[in-house]
Amino acid sequence: MKKFYLLTPGPTPVPHKVRQAEAQPIIHHRTKEYAEIFREVSEDLKTVFKTSNAVLTFAASGTGAMEGAVANTLSPGDRALVVKGGKFAERWAEICEAYGVEVVPIDIEWGDFVSPETIKEHLDRDPGIKEVFTTLCETSTGTLNPIKEIGEIIKNREGTLLTVDAISGLGACDIEVDKWNVDICVAGSQKGLMLPPGLAFASVSEKAWKFIDNSKLPQYYFDFKKAKKSLEKGQTPYTPAVSLTIALKNALDMIKEEGIGNVLNRHQKLADATRAAVKVLGLELLSKKPANAVTAVKVPEGIDGVELVDTLDKKYGIRVAGGQAHLKGKIFRIAHLGYMDRFDIITVIAGLEMTLSDLGYKVEIGKGVKAAEEILKDL
Ligand SMILES: *Cc1c(COP(=O)(O)O)cnc(C)c1O
Repeated sequence: MKKFYLLTPGPTPVPHKVRQAEAQPIIHHRTKEYAEIFREVSEDLKTVFKTSNAVLTFAASGTGAMEGAVANTLSPGDRALVVKGGKFAERWAEICEAYGVEVVPIDIEWGDFVSPETIKEHLDRDPGIKEVFTTLCETSTGTLNPIKEIGEIIKNREGTLLTVDAISGLGACDIEVDKWNVDICVAGSQKGLMLPPGLAFASVSEKAWKFIDNSKLPQYYFDFKKAKKSLEKGQTPYTPAVSLTIALKNALDMIKEEGIGNVLNRHQKLADATRAAVKVLGLELLSKKPANAVTAVKVPEGIDGVELVDTLDKKYGIRVAGGQAHLKGKIFRIAHLGYMDRFDIITVIAGLEMTLSDLGYKVEIGKGVKAAEEILKDL
């Protein structure tokens, strides 16, 4: 017999109560009953995003809302500044290109974060750039970008929007959409929000709505204006993911009960403990600015990273993520995201110690766990 532990940066574990909510009999969506639930979750999402802007919900994976952000705000031939430096950052560039938007890239090394000064230089040199696309937590490298500082640079530029992929960051790394001047903030259900995959979210600022009025790119399913008009009636233009929305209500209730500040503090502690543990085992972090959603760890010399992830999974039942693209086999990623507490971290660190030992890496069993426990006992 073996239990299964999910510590990947999406999908993440779903609490029992939330899974039970999903198992309720389906209700029809064009009813007062559904409208009331959808209105409530749309309001509660604002607390998590820290915004007074409308938060739109789509039945889609997170990428759907990313695509919507591009398609609703820009016109063919527009220029967009895209911060690269990871798998998900590159997705912004790919979506822009698919829609005929010219990409001005900022290439940074994977594991590094963008300097706000670099963004300022680009915008000063080329004030025609209509939108800056970046990522709160770059999940492929476990790196946090300085969104607040970037917002300071963009807020007074009437012709430029700031759009942030917070799909893995929301609920783990702080983001204050209104205070930090984020025009569009995108999130997904299967990360910090403790739900199964299937919902995508986008908050949209007043400034962004003006861009949306003037956008000439085509859109149909991800039409933000249509979504907002429906939301005012507690509805979505098309059939919503009814069960997921009801599950979301339960997940948001849990977040409200804990308090968003406490949720963020918990993620800070879990991240601190994970980092401390891998470091005392002699391993190195990939990121120059580690995010609190996921820790990317370099695979030590002489160890096969794919085998490490496989052993943790097959032998110990602990699923972490490997590296993506050129980092495949070179890093592994431990999520501390969403429905996780101190013992998830103790478990994964213990499993990691056993796995490293199996693979012939010299490790003092219990050393990482000890370092983690010292931080986690006061969670
Ligand atoms: C998971 C993730 C995505 C992808 O979301 P999907 O739901 O798979 O479409 C995009 N960006 C970041 C930063 C992510 O972590």
